Amino acid sequence: MTEFLHSKFKIKIDLITKYGYVAEKKLSTKLIGECGVNLKDPIYVKVCARKVSDDVIVQGEFSVNAVVACARCLREIEYIIKKDNYFRYFKKPYGENINLTESLREDIMVSLPIRVLCQKDCKGLCPHCGTDLNKGSCECSPQEEQSSESVFDILGDAFEK
Ligand SMILES: [Zn+2]
Ligand SMILES: [Zn+2]
Repeated sequence: MTEFLHSKFKIKIDLITKYGYVAEKKLSTKLIGECGVNLKDPIYVKVCARKVSDDVIVQGEFSVNAVVACARCLREIEYIIKKDNYFRYFKKPYGENINLTESLREDIMVSLPIRVLCQKDCKGLCPHCGTDLNKGSCECSPQEEQSSESVFDILGDAFEK
């Protein structure tokens, strides 16, 4: 755990030149705080900060693993949150450092998956008895299929008339 950066992700402005300064870090996910999914340490970040007249441009990439529940069967799976077009513009930054922590947090939040499936054709849980249909079938599933088919048959007939 000690190999991860637990303090805020900052770059000293003195180090940044027009040729660029590369910062490559492993950050603790604690810096991001509560975000709705379970992030796994560390967050890999690699950015290049470049001075353009008095301003600073930061470009780079990050990735972090998250544990999320499959939208259909609720099984926990690992998901990689990855962004290779991280970009921030600091207009005439002052002080000792530029702080990238908050912007990184924002980018992770918008990159969070809305809906993830454990496999493309996950069969999900039976809505009646809760059986994981990936592991086997239950008594009620064939009935369920039949009734949904008949609903579509009735609708189909209605539209044809
Ligand atoms: Zn699933
Ligand atoms: Zn069932």
